[in-house]
Amino acid sequence: AIPLVVAINTSLAARNGMLVRDRIAMEEARNLDAIIFDKTGTLTEGEHGVVDMATVDGVDEDDALTLAAGVESDSEHMIARAIREAANDQDLTAPDATDFEAIKGRGVRANVDGNEVYVGGPNLLTQLDSEIPDHLQRFADEAGQNAQTVVYLVRDGELIAAFAMADVIREESFRVVDALHDLGIEVAMLTGDSQDVANAVADELGIDTVFAEVLPEDKDEKVQELQDQGKLVGMVGDGVNDAPALTRADVGIAIGSGTDVAVQSADVILVQNNPMDVVRLVKLSKASYRKMQ
Ligand code: ADP
Ligand code: MG
Repeated sequence: AIPLVVAINTSLAARNGMLVRDRIAMEEARNLDAIIFDKTGTLTEGEHGVVDMATVDGVDEDDALTLAAGVESDSEHMIARAIREAANDQDLTAPDATDFEAIKGRGVRANVDGNEVYVGGPNLLTQLDSEIPDHLQRFADEAGQNAQTVVYLVRDGELIAAFAMADVIREESFRVVDALHDLGIEVAMLTGDSQDVANAVADELGIDTVFAEVLPEDKDEKVQELQDQGKLVGMVGDGVNDAPALTRADVGIAIGSGTDVAVQSADVILVQNNPMDVVRLVKLSKASYRKMQ
């Protein structure tokens, strides 16, 4: 039989928009030493808009944007949506792309008019062994310092353009970090985005530990890294990419609309897509289990 206090506790949780899939994790939440948050869509709104772009000599901006929109036409990623919208706003029509391929945590690839074209972030450039021309590097540095995400356009092996995209920090995130600090909990952030953007967001929020440019398959290792320091670790995420990290964490927390995979990997699901519910979860766990001792 389920002990009465646990039953009360989980139904109280449910009334607060928390679905508890693992009661042990609910009990452990009161002892968490560190909580890792996914950046995009969890601490930030996750709604990027293209705010600036730059091209190499001889490449027209409209042509670059058109080409990028073509490559991104089959991607669900928020970055892809932003690039398609930017092209649309300029009344540019994306060319047909074939052999589309999504490269997890890096970007996308497709064939356009016989050219092999990629759009993606720093992780993609590493994979392609692609050099960034000086003035595009300066463009990227400046964008990064303004917490803007930069992705690059590579055509037939040559990096020809860069796009800067702005995301905004969710208002609630500031209170979440402060409240967790008040509870003595270390706050960490995990993202596939660039180190610059991650640092800018972390500085603004007062986040203690930053893991940036992490590939989806390596995210769970960052959870392990904190666990290896003897810490009890919570992880908050929403995406398919976050699933292994949610599983690895002592308390895996899926937030918001969360993909099915994230939801199935989590111990607790926060239905209302409010990061403040992470704080409520810890407090509810402390209040409930104190009574049991
Ligand atoms: P996060 O960990 O922030 O949720 P993802 O793992 O989804 O991010 O993506 C990591 C990085 O991979 C992005 O910041 C971007 O540089 C690149 N990327 C992923 N998908 C795309 C795409 N469709 N177009 C361009 N870049 C992409
Ligand atoms: Mg994400």
